[in-house]
Amino acid sequence: MAKTPKTPPKPETQLVNAGRDPKAYHGFVNPPVYHASTVLYPTAADQVAHRARYSYGRRGTPTSEALENALREIEGDKCAGVALLPSGLAAISTALLASAGAGDHILMSDSVYRPTRTFCEGVFKRMGVTTTYYDPLIGAGIAALFKPNTKAVFVEAPGSQSFEMQDIPAIARVAHDKGATVLMDNTWATPLYFKPFEKGVDLSIQAGTKYIGGHSDIMFGCVSANAKMLPALKETVYTMGLCVGPDDMNLALRGLRTMGVRLPRHFQSGLQIARWLEQRPEVVRVLHPALESDPGHAIWQRDFTGACGLFSIVLKPTSEKAVYAFMDELALFGMGFSWGGFESLVILFDCAEYRTATPWKPEGPTLRFHIGLEDPGDLIADLEGGFAAMAAAK
Ligand SMILES: *Cc1c(COP(=O)(O)O)cnc(C)c1O
Repeated sequence: MAKTPKTPPKPETQLVNAGRDPKAYHGFVNPPVYHASTVLYPTAADQVAHRARYSYGRRGTPTSEALENALREIEGDKCAGVALLPSGLAAISTALLASAGAGDHILMSDSVYRPTRTFCEGVFKRMGVTTTYYDPLIGAGIAALFKPNTKAVFVEAPGSQSFEMQDIPAIARVAHDKGATVLMDNTWATPLYFKPFEKGVDLSIQAGTKYIGGHSDIMFGCVSANAKMLPALKETVYTMGLCVGPDDMNLALRGLRTMGVRLPRHFQSGLQIARWLEQRPEVVRVLHPALESDPGHAIWQRDFTGACGLFSIVLKPTSEKAVYAFMDELALFGMGFSWGGFESLVILFDCAEYRTATPWKPEGPTLRFHIGLEDPGDLIADLEGGFAAMAAAK
């Protein structure tokens, strides 16, 4: 930002102003979108000395700088820098590659986003990095799983699909005692509702495809680092040749400006619908840490300041036909995996397919909802219709 405000800016103010400097761009509100590869040097001496503010499109443009600066400011003072990646999964794999190498061992939450596991079982295994999956509820008990070569601990809270809360400060204390790096997938809460660097995280990952983009129309990811991990992160990004297309960076910047109004709406509507679902006779449990009934509620209340629109439910045992009838009846919930856009979604999922450290034995079929920006009353009416179709299909 060009001028310093009178009071330290609140997150909503940061989201509007971070990374913008209209004075630098003839007064236009937004930074220009540089479509760029080659950069020309003014003189032979400059070329030989590589003397230039910008040297190559892949190494950064005013557009990428604006986005990096904005994301860094939103993370807070303990964040030393941000790397931009072409997807959330690229952000995860890059952060892992920056944290461990041949002969190392890492600890991975059993409730992690499934493609994160696939990376560990594929690329990491071939490289000679071994992975132990741990109970997401392990807390400080994780100390028992450390080996002499344990280099990193990966956390994600709440768990993907299953929504377990992790005691991240407790895990981070143990990891730092043992000299290991703490990586977190913070896509669910975003830095608006969970401040990773204040809770002991060294590398924080976001799938910007989700709430930063906010409109289901970009692929984008980012990794924020503290001072200790920033050099390794930047080196990995540069040597892998990773960069983001200018139009997606521009849409990520645009998404940031409205995140401060979108997320509270996802939070409120999501919680309202979660509470409504909790009262339904068809539902055994709602997996949403902001609900008082959730086993992770105390941790959520201690460490988080909000929730997004994503949660799951466990249905009473019923036929596949009845669940399909429920889903097919819904008019306002699309059936799609990638959430964080303005629209509501539902998917049927089964964590038992891939979990290895902890059993996943729900009482019945499990559905994950993303509550979008629609009127929550309309969404509830749609869900009522779904339950009626479910009853009829039994
Ligand atoms: C979607 C998602 C990702 C991956 O993001 P992409 O941009 O689809 O690669 C990573 N982590 C979590 C928790 C996600 O939900």
